Amino acid sequence: MTASAEVTSRSAVLTPPQPSRPTGPRPDLEPEPSSTGERILVATFVAVPMLALLAAIPLAWGWGLGWHDVVLAIVFYAISGLGISMGFHRYFTHGSFKATRGFKIALGVAGTLALEGPVLTWVADHRRHHKYSDQEGDPHSPWRFGDDWKALTKGLLFAHMGWLFGTERTSEQKFCPDWLADSDIVRISRSFAWLVAASLLAPALIGGLWSWSWQGAVTAFFWASLVRVAFLHHVTWSINSICHTFGKEEFEVRDKSRNVSWLAILSFGESWHNLHHSDPTCARHGVLKGQIDIAARVIWVAEKLGWAYAVRWPDESRLTGKQVGRSRKLGSMTKRAGSSATS
Ligand SMILES: [Zn+2]
Ligand SMILES: [Zn+2]
Repeated sequence: MTASAEVTSRSAVLTPPQPSRPTGPRPDLEPEPSSTGERILVATFVAVPMLALLAAIPLAWGWGLGWHDVVLAIVFYAISGLGISMGFHRYFTHGSFKATRGFKIALGVAGTLALEGPVLTWVADHRRHHKYSDQEGDPHSPWRFGDDWKALTKGLLFAHMGWLFGTERTSEQKFCPDWLADSDIVRISRSFAWLVAASLLAPALIGGLWSWSWQGAVTAFFWASLVRVAFLHHVTWSINSICHTFGKEEFEVRDKSRNVSWLAILSFGESWHNLHHSDPTCARHGVLKGQIDIAARVIWVAEKLGWAYAVRWPDESRLTGKQVGRSRKLGSMTKRAGSSATS
């Protein structure tokens, strides 16, 4: 933002309130930038788990790691990671399927446990990312500073985590009017601090009770709270940095999104990011044969249980037209040409 634009946006705060909301298109950004306090909070949430991850390495060889911790870390990683992938991303941002009220609330809570911000903020930022993908206005493009190696190195760092420290706040009024009208989701979004506390304290509580010791509580807090959060943060951020820079372009896109196979399992299928940008509402991102997509499989199970419905499974006729070159066949869960299913 230029200095004059910033002055304008700050002075806008000082103007007296208007009697009625202005009509016409809403601005992309909130008039009020995020405060220093909020930015310090983001820095704390990023730095503390990362330092914990570094400290974990020597600890792994010494005392302080048991199978209780491993189980808790994997379970909480799966709950919060699927909450982001299935919930925040495929359901809340893109509407890849519809959900019963109970399942919607479960997805909202599970995603919040990942400590990636309140659901409304996450959805607003991500919808803005798709609107401007790798162009001016994209909140986290690695191509922001240019395409020579120096600019790209800086861009990769910015897309990975630098953007989190900026003052820009995406307008929720503009990008998520649908969820602002849903009182369940507004409540979950406003309960962010409580859910963060629960996400960090629940592993410690379970670990303590399970081993019936204070040491069990401490090691579970370390591995299943701090290390788990740090690891999931980096996997999610890699979708913004690595999956917009390296990997394969298997489907036509107007941006730099790419499919990255080695991140597929850790990201629950989110790293099939090239297909995702090519067909954003598709519920399955790893659409080609052999492309593992755990979140899509869990959506499939939820559909069988009746929790998810109107799922937008890959559409053969649409996707074959978008495939680049000769590629592999589409995998299962695809709506084949001539099938009676409707989306
Ligand atoms: Zn998306
Ligand atoms: Zn993207």
